[in-house]
Amino acid sequence: MFRALIIDQNEERQQTCTLSNVEESQLPEGDVLVEVAYSTLNYKDALAITGKGRIARSFPMVPGIDLVGKVLQSDSERFQEGDWVLLNGFGVGEMHWGGLAEKARLKSEWLIPLPSGIDAKQSMAVGTAGYTAMLSVLALEKQGVTPDSGEILVTGANGGVGSYAIRLLNRLGYQVVASTGRMEETEYLKSLGANDVIDRATLSEPGKPLQKERWAGVIDCVGSHTLANVCASTKYGGVVTACGLAQGLDFPASVAPFILRGVKLIGIDSVMRPLADRVEAWQRLGELLQAEDFDAISQEITLDDVAKTASALLDGKVRGRVIVAF
Ligand code: NAP
Repeated sequence: MFRALIIDQNEERQQTCTLSNVEESQLPEGDVLVEVAYSTLNYKDALAITGKGRIARSFPMVPGIDLVGKVLQSDSERFQEGDWVLLNGFGVGEMHWGGLAEKARLKSEWLIPLPSGIDAKQSMAVGTAGYTAMLSVLALEKQGVTPDSGEILVTGANGGVGSYAIRLLNRLGYQVVASTGRMEETEYLKSLGANDVIDRATLSEPGKPLQKERWAGVIDCVGSHTLANVCASTKYGGVVTACGLAQGLDFPASVAPFILRGVKLIGIDSVMRPLADRVEAWQRLGELLQAEDFDAISQEITLDDVAKTASALLDGKVRGRVIVAF
């Protein structure tokens, strides 16, 4: 028997979430059995756990889109017993039992070896949020945005993606402006490497299709009017990456920034990302992040604290990343 967070539906089709003891035989199919050492709590996990988003596609479901652990059994040639493996996304925690359990059975093609330069706990301090931040920074680089191009705006700055984006951009020498609804966290955001901090209220209301050109690049985590406004205020030829929907799934924008200023909008998906991109992103994370970054951006909780922390996260009361330790 081992402990697992189980999302289920009651007879009234209301979602429930309980910490339960389950048998190894209940685990779904897969060729690698992993003893989970750490998982995380992402925005998507919080939506799944609270039932505020339809994340779990079948019931019962173990949430947790990230995990790191040691291989207990493997039928795959890629992994041996005792190897440390890392998983982000691929529908795990949504369609296949995920990381918020002491054990997981997974498909080997979803796993990558723990990258060098990052230990198991640090990899979950990064998690999908930090890996998505790295994918966003890589997208800016690949589109030719350099530290000399000008200011880079990061929205949803206090969140997991935003915090890592600020730190990574700072390490690469970019001028970073953080947009936040929590101006009281200005010191924290500056300690991560933000050169300037702006109130997200200046971006969250409907705005003009073309506005004063300011940003050479934008890493947007919030979508909706914010994404429309940042596109409208991006400089000629600038690049906006879109990974999130914390303000909303909508995109009430005009084509003006794209057809008159050549602004590029790059979608960032971390979930189904091919293995080669994952390995590249994690290698860069290992090179760029230093030991103090993981502590600065993360806090640690146990499986017992997950449900209440999930509610706090959706209420915007959690700063940075949450590691779940087993
Ligand atoms: P998070 O830790 O909850 O952070 C989200 C941040 O957004 C909050 O800390 C808050 O920052 C800001 N925010 C919250 N409500 C807002 C609102 N109504 N209007 C404007 N800003 C708001 O989440 P995360 O893990 O960083 O993820 C950020 C987003 O990216 C989420 O939507 C998540 O689903 C998405 N995501 C997508 C992928 C992908 O593969 N595409 C991967 C990871 C995450 P401030 O308090 O500083 O304003």
